[in-house]
Amino acid sequence: MPTVPTFADVQAAADRIRGHAHRTPVLTSRRIDAETGAQLYFKCENFQRMGAFKFRGAFNALSRFDDDQRRAGVLTYSSGNHAQGIALAANILGIPATILMPDDAPESKVAATVGYGASVVRFDRYGEDREEIGRALAAEKGLTLIPPYDHPDIIAGQGTATMELLEETGELDALFVCLGGGGLLSGAALAARAMAPSCRIVGVEPEAGDDGVRSLRSGSIVHIDTPVTIADGAQTQHLGVLTFEIIRRDVDDIVTASDAELVAAMRVFASTMKIVVEPTGCLAFAAVRRLAPELAGRRVGVIVSGGNVDLDRFAALITS
Ligand SMILES: *Cc1c(COP(=O)(O)O)cnc(C)c1O
Repeated sequence: MPTVPTFADVQAAADRIRGHAHRTPVLTSRRIDAETGAQLYFKCENFQRMGAFKFRGAFNALSRFDDDQRRAGVLTYSSGNHAQGIALAANILGIPATILMPDDAPESKVAATVGYGASVVRFDRYGEDREEIGRALAAEKGLTLIPPYDHPDIIAGQGTATMELLEETGELDALFVCLGGGGLLSGAALAARAMAPSCRIVGVEPEAGDDGVRSLRSGSIVHIDTPVTIADGAQTQHLGVLTFEIIRRDVDDIVTASDAELVAAMRVFASTMKIVVEPTGCLAFAAVRRLAPELAGRRVGVIVSGGNVDLDRFAALITS
């Protein structure tokens, strides 16, 4: 098993991605502070390259390839932001990328991935096992598989978002981070435990898929069916081995947010802060809004993880 990354790995990742990833803004809103009673600092990864934090981990992981790995190329499976992150990072670094995507992946996502120069291989989501196909392809062509969250370089890269946030805000009382497979949350925990030791770290997952809550409670990784939720970036079935190791050691709590709460948060982001945030990117803020009474007077970090949502879907959601 690969070793669990540390804060030193997050710092090394920050050096590698400097000048390639954007240092995204930390936004504040007096109006939202007045409404919640807390002082909120939003780390806006919806302004990251390709529209989500996933570029950080992808670029960090691919930067560490040796010459043979670079020549042969990278492989991953994802229908979402990780695919685009890998495709863009590979394009910048001149590494061939192969992305396994389900037959029913949205054409806009396939087109964006192909647009970054990656080869897309389609598979039947219901009849074929993507991990098996991935392993076979990787073995046949010598490709290096970079999974979406359970990898030390991915975790370390994602941790740079929280590192940048804390560099700007100093110590925070609490930090809220959305949770799918746990790459973002475990990276955030590495940074926050080192830079803000007394900060309360809270993960937020969709109400429809509370495997994180149950895993934390039971002390082992709980597997669930693909949850039905508008938070498509967090429709994971289980945490990773590495991410869970860090989460259970460093994260204080995991809470959930419902689809209705995500839509409400999405509307506040658009109307008050004038920013477009995808449903998954609203998880942390949705939980902060519900828990506001407990957070009164506190300085709270909120990771806004991404902004990739088709305009038609965005319009339909905020008017629903
Ligand atoms: C991938 C993703 C998440 C979940 O990240 P994990 O590292 O899998 O927990 C959250 N928000 C967005 C926008 C994502 O793309």
